[in-house]
Amino acid sequence: MHSEELIHKFRQIWVKRVIQNIARGAGLREDFREQLDRFQTALEQVIDTGDPEWMDSILVDWAASLTQTDLEGKQSNLTQFVRQLFQTAYDVCRESFETEEGFDLIGSLIPAYSAAFERAAQFEMQTRVKYLTNQLDEVQESLEKLDKSKSDFIAVAAHELRTPLTLVEGYAAMLGEMFPSEGNSPSLELINGIHNGTQRLRTIIDDMIDVSLIDNNLMSLNYQPVWINRLLGVLKLELSPTLEERKQILEVADFPGSNEIIFADPERLLQVFRNLLLNSVKFTPDGGKINVDGKMLPGFLDVTVTDTGIGIKPEDQQYIFEKGGRLGNTALHSSGKTKFKGGGPGLGLHIAKGIIEAHGGAIWVESETYDEVNCPGSTFHILIPIRESPPDDKTAKLFAPLIPKQPKA
Ligand code: ADP
Repeated sequence: MHSEELIHKFRQIWVKRVIQNIARGAGLREDFREQLDRFQTALEQVIDTGDPEWMDSILVDWAASLTQTDLEGKQSNLTQFVRQLFQTAYDVCRESFETEEGFDLIGSLIPAYSAAFERAAQFEMQTRVKYLTNQLDEVQESLEKLDKSKSDFIAVAAHELRTPLTLVEGYAAMLGEMFPSEGNSPSLELINGIHNGTQRLRTIIDDMIDVSLIDNNLMSLNYQPVWINRLLGVLKLELSPTLEERKQILEVADFPGSNEIIFADPERLLQVFRNLLLNSVKFTPDGGKINVDGKMLPGFLDVTVTDTGIGIKPEDQQYIFEKGGRLGNTALHSSGKTKFKGGGPGLGLHIAKGIIEAHGGAIWVESETYDEVNCPGSTFHILIPIRESPPDDKTAKLFAPLIPKQPKA
């Protein structure tokens, strides 16, 4: 038989057989026959020209039509399908042609099928990668949405809580005025109880608002001249009753750069150091020591807060700066802002990190390990950029006399 006739006959039998074998029983797609014809034509082009790219068009279409189930499964569906097509071609050559004709046919088809396998695997892989990338993008998008609705909820809840809290504070203040402060009247004790409770609640609400500002990149800083040693002095005074109660010693060193002007947000830095010092108080046993020191680095002031407390495991040291990054069994925590291992909402370090990063600095902790018996202690580093002038012109004009003059070029 002439080779063209041979190929023509082969195609007729092969298409029929594939339809019988592969699509047996299943609802056959109308254009399936047409697609098999396209595939066989492409194979013949590869045989004629030796160029495997002839396979691309049909294989790309088949790869694109893989369903979600195909792509989620581990099996390689397209190469599997091409393998079935080849198996049928082999059977047709063996069963429907004279031995020699069959050998010739299969001999010419094998190189073309090998190119088809290679390209089918490649296109299927590309489709799977694309599918997985889309899936990942979708997951990322929904995580971002979830995070956004969480911080929106926090912001709204915090604002809503503020109003009734202000009412309670107002009525407590009125009650306080109605009862004279002298004497140890039981009602005065009750009013103080309400006052302490509302103060605690206000701190938590303010922290929730700060967290939502940080998470939405909305924290704005009020740059002013700052002397770090003055901030630390204020805090030392503020914490002295607590330190006395916990029999702890707070030492603040007179380190280089601490008494020089830098431009930063003093209120926010005060908040950072307050959070860190209160944590040191909380996680250091009675009688322990807290030391604040620092050094100048090129462009930065590296302030360290070191305590002789329970320490933090290296694997937890990143986690504690995350929102709600409390360690250990929170159920066992005692409550209270300054009690040993007192529990908190786990927002203090997240806020400290947000504030320091908004300044363009960095914050991290170093600690050997966590050990409540031997207390290896922790050292928190707060890297503050040394700004010699505020970033905005208006504030710069206001504080012009404090800003060092740039030497004229
Ligand atoms: P909170 O104090 O409200 O739990 P923070 O964000 O301030 O939240 O701290 C997160 C966690 O980091 C704490 O619960 C504690 O486990 C750990 N931690 C913070 N500071 C120290 C410290 N100085 N020593 C040991 N552990 C600490």
